[in-house]
Amino acid sequence: MPDHKPKYKRVLLKLSGESLLGDLPYGIDLDSTRSIALEIKEVHALGVEIAIMIGGGNIFRGIRGSESGMDRASADYMGLLATIMNGIALQDALEKEKVLTRQVSAIEVKAVAEPFLRRRVIRHLERGRVVIFSAGIGSPYFTTDTAGVLRALEINADVILKATKVDGVYSADPMIEKDAERFSTIRYIDVLKKGLKVMDSTAIALCKDHDLPIIVFNLFDNGNIKRVVLGEEVGTTVF
Ligand code: UDP
Repeated sequence: MPDHKPKYKRVLLKLSGESLLGDLPYGIDLDSTRSIALEIKEVHALGVEIAIMIGGGNIFRGIRGSESGMDRASADYMGLLATIMNGIALQDALEKEKVLTRQVSAIEVKAVAEPFLRRRVIRHLERGRVVIFSAGIGSPYFTTDTAGVLRALEINADVILKATKVDGVYSADPMIEKDAERFSTIRYIDVLKKGLKVMDSTAIALCKDHDLPIIVFNLFDNGNIKRVVLGEEVGTTVF
């Protein structure tokens, strides 16, 4: 039986934009956003310091814009702005649950978010505020996965919690191949060599170079974030 003391003191939770989608084809489903906020609240109540990197794929992805003929950098900036909208929705849902938060954006949007100042972010975490990072690293050609790894390193997070819609890392896409096998652990190098879809290769390489473990797990199994934080064997650990 796992004890009820968290295994990690400070975590970086990577939430894709899709986690806010619910059953909508596009945009933000407020009920789904609230459910995630409730899960985060439970983990926060354990005393774990939580920083979140929020994605934007439920609204806009730069690559999609560039495939339709847009300039890639302009399209990526639209993607970045999408993450800020998601950040506001998540912040609202958390604060409705009485969890104190700060939104920290990598591009300046003074009316809704603070600029990224590493020491200030660490102070927020120490004071028990949930920090929501938006706008990735503020530059086009990156993903919020890579941005999450970068911020996790900067704030000395113990682990990256990569919330997805599958149960972990599989040998092939489990939605397509029925006998795809789930790994309970896998090395960074094997993820890269096998081209497994965990995070983009920049993000994996950064974790590998700095020994930052990633736990990939299914966000849609109720209570999973808490299980992971308590050290239960959930999903796949990339190390
Ligand atoms: N993006 C970017 N730089 C960053 C992070 C994100 O340009 O540092 C843009 C990029 O266009 C990306 C979009 O923002 O497609 C949304 O982020 P992402 O696709 O990572 O979101 P997720 O898949 O997690 O929902």
